[in-house]
Amino acid sequence: PDRTRGAGRVAIVGGGLAGCLLAVLLGRRGIEVTVYERRPDPRVAGAERGRSINLAISARGLAALEQVGLRDRSLKQALPMHGRMVHPRGGEPNFQPYSADGERHINSIGRAELNRSLLDTAESTPGVRLVFSQRVTGVDTKAGALLLEDAGGRPLTEPADVILAGDGAYSAVRGSLRPDGDTDVLEHGYKELTVPPKDGEFALDPDALHIWPRGTSMMIALPNLDRSFTCTLFWKKSDFTALGTPGAVTAYFAEHYPDVAGLMPGLAEDYARNPVGSLVTVRCWPWVRYGDGAIVALLGDAAHAIVPFFGQGANCAFEDCIEIDRCLTEADGHWPRALSLYQERRKANTDAIAEMALDNFVEMRDRVSSPVYRAKQAAVHALERRLAGRYVSRYELVSFSTMPYAEIPSRIRRQNRMLAAAVLGAGAAVGLGAGVLIPRRGRRGGR
Ligand code: FAD
Repeated sequence: PDRTRGAGRVAIVGGGLAGCLLAVLLGRRGIEVTVYERRPDPRVAGAERGRSINLAISARGLAALEQVGLRDRSLKQALPMHGRMVHPRGGEPNFQPYSADGERHINSIGRAELNRSLLDTAESTPGVRLVFSQRVTGVDTKAGALLLEDAGGRPLTEPADVILAGDGAYSAVRGSLRPDGDTDVLEHGYKELTVPPKDGEFALDPDALHIWPRGTSMMIALPNLDRSFTCTLFWKKSDFTALGTPGAVTAYFAEHYPDVAGLMPGLAEDYARNPVGSLVTVRCWPWVRYGDGAIVALLGDAAHAIVPFFGQGANCAFEDCIEIDRCLTEADGHWPRALSLYQERRKANTDAIAEMALDNFVEMRDRVSSPVYRAKQAAVHALERRLAGRYVSRYELVSFSTMPYAEIPSRIRRQNRMLAAAVLGAGAAVGLGAGVLIPRRGRRGGR
């Protein structure tokens, strides 16, 4: 018998992406679980403004969604992006495929739809109870209780033996536990803008993640099902306030983003209305607290928020849920052992993706526009084709595989050593010859 059934009261804090997925996984094990979400039900109240509107979901996220039968439903609501479309300051946009075969793609999916699918699935899972408009303010690990506030600000206490906190980057539960570590706030913030459809069609190529690299800053755009694009500016926070009038905004975009400025009729209003969000990296430890009355664990952004430049935060949060489920099986349903295993296994991985995400910001805002970078990418893809399975780019390992993140940096170092050896004349050992740089094959549609 599954001993988790008798584990007492299990509470999940946060009905976001990770909280909902975990609720479904636990419900399927026969565990009764209550999810406490601070917002009203977004399926009734509509999505909250100020969160990223769409997300790039890739192999890790899809593998997790598959486990709860949501992969296909999510892909139906997604648009594939086969590569980056880089818009240099002067000159034509150039397309850089994400994979050597030009076939692999990441998926642009609306956050609100994904959250709705997960909420629907959680609600229809026996044993899962969703409670909206209740904000968790802290935990009492001695008494075994969650401290909450209802919509009117009245304090409430709910007994709980196991508390799983998926309450996001600014987690109240983390604040209440005070683990070691810190939160790094990037000097860049983000603001979302819109490129609406043009004559009913996409105004830009919908098969790509668009990037306008501008050295120390950038703008990106991801397609939406309604044929619009959501653009995100990543600028130093002080630069946002420097553009004080609608005229200044329009003039700045005409100069710095000339090929898209004309496609943004609502630019000045969007710019004035939409907030500037912060980008944080949370590094804390431990994630699990064993109190006399309750055991508490952090997951997703609450444990390890990362900057969004590898499009991995949600993918990584989903992996946490799968790992907790796996650890419960391995620990035969014993919560303390399972959560201890979970944090030990995940920490090195989330540290690794946090660093890779920071590094990718420099790649996206700066390196992608250099001709040397493009030549190097072409060479990397040629090697991937030539040495199939033995040479795989970092991007592919992160986005198109489920290899633990922590193994990726050393794997890349090994590959680079192999490459250096090949270049230095040991090429015969790995079968490299003069024809190694094969021209890029066209992507779908021959472009
Ligand atoms: P969240 O999704 O933040 O969910 C937390 C939930 O907890 C929310 O529903 C919230 O209302 C609730 N909550 C918060 N506090 C309380 C409380 N006190 N009591 C009760 N409930 C509470 N990731 C990707 O994989 N791909 C991307 O392309 C991508 N792009 C991004 C772009 C931007 C601009 C940003 C900022 C992030 C991006 N991310 C992306 C990261 C991704 O959004 C997060 O990693 C992901 O949402 C984490 O899921 P979560 O469930 O841990 O937290």
